[in-house]
Amino acid sequence: MAGTGYVGLTTGTCFAEIGHEVICCDIDKEKIDLLNKGEIPIFEPGLKELVKKNVNAARLSFTTDLKQAVRDSDVIFIAVGTPPKHNGEADLSYVENVAKDIGAAMNGYKLIVEKSTVPVETGKWIKKTIQAHNIHGFEFDVASNPEFLREGSAIKDFLEPDRIVIGVENEKAEKILKEIYEPINAPMIVTDLNSAEIIKHAANSFLSMKISFINAIANVCELAGADVKMVAKGIGHDKRIGRHFLDAGIGYGGYCFPKDLQAFVNISNKLGYDFKLLKEVESINENQRKMFVEKIRNTLWNLKEKEIGVLGLSFKPNTDDIREAPSIQIINELQKDGAKIKAYCPGGMENAKKILKDIKLCSNAYEVCENSYALLIITEWEDFANLDFDKVKHLMKRPLIIDGRNMFEPKVLKSLGFEYECIGR
Ligand code: NAD
Repeated sequence: MAGTGYVGLTTGTCFAEIGHEVICCDIDKEKIDLLNKGEIPIFEPGLKELVKKNVNAARLSFTTDLKQAVRDSDVIFIAVGTPPKHNGEADLSYVENVAKDIGAAMNGYKLIVEKSTVPVETGKWIKKTIQAHNIHGFEFDVASNPEFLREGSAIKDFLEPDRIVIGVENEKAEKILKEIYEPINAPMIVTDLNSAEIIKHAANSFLSMKISFINAIANVCELAGADVKMVAKGIGHDKRIGRHFLDAGIGYGGYCFPKDLQAFVNISNKLGYDFKLLKEVESINENQRKMFVEKIRNTLWNLKEKEIGVLGLSFKPNTDDIREAPSIQIINELQKDGAKIKAYCPGGMENAKKILKDIKLCSNAYEVCENSYALLIITEWEDFANLDFDKVKHLMKRPLIIDGRNMFEPKVLKSLGFEYECIGR
């Protein structure tokens, strides 16, 4: 496994769990040292125990030596980052570096599998790169096997997926991948390389589109005095639509949707198609955050020197990942107006320290409430559902909750003596 991040570590560990021998490799020495000491560099429920179990069973090991790992393996999965460049294009330099190292280390037939999310035709480039560095001319194949796991439920998503997609160019590669996934009971969709690459981008784009769709509906609901939660329920029961990803709020964030959408718009454009629909999805998403900040300004009037409490920093619950989290943009905007921010997040605090400046990180939700003029719900962690609202009310300077995730019932919070603002209700 080349790359031991959220995807590489989880999929590598799960491959070991289903019986394979796995070497997880990363250029980040600190990460590998930590893993070799039995510690886990990310927060992912259940992962620590699974890593320990498979290391003890001698099926899982960690190294910084990619070339040796390649020599010792039959199949190499590429799971390095594919971050966005300034123009929205995917930065594929990490993928290229791995491909060069794989090419140079070849000592026999290898199957190289893209697990990272990459634009269509990346497989072709990986092949050319390996070819150029494979001076002894060893045989190899390139395949695509996009990953659909979600942070926070990554192990279950990997072991019980809705489907497995493999993009291959010949029967040999197909047979190897089928063997690898044999213990997992899920439909397998076998395609060509380009289609597999597009499947991943199309899936993430569709899910983002659902989120932006319900957010647009929420905006209409707000203007019409309707309730978006009821509307989502009403349309979600239709099997053709489905209830998932119809939660209105401050929009999507994280390491996948924003960058994958940008990359898909970009590659489509390069291929000659102007994907206006997805541009609108991005624009609605961006607007949700702006409107949330406006809501805060409209309720609190001047923000200068006012203490504002924030609950939730990670881009979604059950993860420590704050990459592209809505919290960052919202906090930065409020700080520009002179607000003093206090925050608590059950998972995202360590990563927040590296990115967010001049905020007070608290040890629990109640400390956040103390003397706050408003309490903002940015991420819907389960921990926040059961707050003692009597206590919250007495701790706050003004009992005002502005809920970006529609976690609570407006009637209930109002009956408890709160001013309550939410999205589309
Ligand atoms: P990550 O940043 O957590 O991990 C990437 C790792 O690759 C890092 O640890 C980095 O040090 C390592 N790396 C970089 N260059 C390397 C090299 N030459 N050799 C070895 N290791 C190297 O990223 P991630 O969240 O795991 O995402 C990886 C890919 O999977 C991305 O393309 C992403 O879009 C995709 N993906 C992510 C998720 C998710 O939920 N995070 C889900 C599905 C797909």
